[in-house]
Amino acid sequence: MDKCSFCGRPRKETNMLIAGISGFICDSCAEQAYAIVEEEFKKNSNFDMGQVKLLKPIEIKTFLDQYVIGQDEAKKYLSVAVYNHYKRLKQTIATDEVEIEKSNIILVGETGTGKTLLARTIARMLHVPFTIVDATVLTEAGYVGEDIESILTRLLQAADYNVEAAEKGIVFIDEIDKIARKSDNPSITRDVSGEGVQQGLLKLLEGAVVNVPPQGGRKHPEQKMIPVNTKNILFICGGAFDGIQKKIAQRLNTGVVGYNASISKEKIDKDNLLQYIAPQDLKAFGLIPEIIGRLPILTYLSPLDKNALRRVLTEPKNSIIKQYVKLFAMDKITLSFDEEVLDYIVDKAIEFKLGARGLRSICETIIMDYMFETPSKKTAKLAVTLDYARKKIEKANRALLKAS
Ligand code: ADP
Repeated sequence: MDKCSFCGRPRKETNMLIAGISGFICDSCAEQAYAIVEEEFKKNSNFDMGQVKLLKPIEIKTFLDQYVIGQDEAKKYLSVAVYNHYKRLKQTIATDEVEIEKSNIILVGETGTGKTLLARTIARMLHVPFTIVDATVLTEAGYVGEDIESILTRLLQAADYNVEAAEKGIVFIDEIDKIARKSDNPSITRDVSGEGVQQGLLKLLEGAVVNVPPQGGRKHPEQKMIPVNTKNILFICGGAFDGIQKKIAQRLNTGVVGYNASISKEKIDKDNLLQYIAPQDLKAFGLIPEIIGRLPILTYLSPLDKNALRRVLTEPKNSIIKQYVKLFAMDKITLSFDEEVLDYIVDKAIEFKLGARGLRSICETIIMDYMFETPSKKTAKLAVTLDYARKKIEKANRALLKAS
């Protein structure tokens, strides 16, 4: 009689008995075995720093280059910061030794220049839990919105509630500029999403044990809090800081001594003032000095020009165009884009002032009908032509005009 080689149950007592070379396994044993494997896997491989090879900064940058176009300066800063973060995680501290301090990062750059992409790519390489939170939803406790602790709830979720892993994770805080003080006068009544939030955030950045509601929000007052130490969590903040160029220009003009004091006025590249950004500009913008102090690595991302946008379309390892080609290949269709279509897409993205963010929606508009129709046809080859692309975009524009 056939029976499970693990629990000994005969076939009729199981829902299913799977035959192997010299034995059987029943459905419930298979399920249990899977659970054990999964548990072990989670423990050992997922977020284990010991298994991760310590990449050198130049190697980290080479990795980033595969996914992110340009932004060399930001990549360099990030690579060094992450390398040091690795070392920090690996350090064993004896009492009298030098302790390497955490270096949180702040990336300043217009929307759609690759801030999130950089942070995401770094996390992909590190095999540590990673989450993106939007600073605009954060408010002081007691106000409508989310508490600061919700940031860590998200990280815990990304770590499958493995607290130890979460404590070595990376949090990308987007739109950090939105919690800047709205006025330069610190004595005005606190704004809900301004200084109070910055004070709350400061605690996380500095490193503290924070009680985190595992489900987040304030809807579950009965939930048991999980203490999370933020000492080793790397925070990468990003923001567009609209208008900060003015503050930079003012500083450069008045010759305030900063670490850019050596640039002579004639040499200043007025089209990309962000490259001269210094901590005092962030202060002028409305971040409190304590926060700035906890984000010691300050770097910038340049606006993507035509050439860069063109490269974004096709060069990154998972570029938009490569993704479409793959999608169609799954239906055995060889998809290609004529060169002038790619130029056209870039021109439209510049026209719509959407940076790299626009590329995807423009591509979608062009290719939607093909994606809808071709899987049901016997097409083997499909080339997107300029004529076709133009027609689709113009049609979409007319529809938009009508709607507004
Ligand atoms: P940000 O966070 O700066 O607003 P994102 O990183 O979210 O911008 O960029 C939006 C999208 O645009 C990304 O998903 C990516 O497809 C593309 N993108 C932006 N910048 C770059 C870049 N430098 N290299 C490659 N792709 C980019």
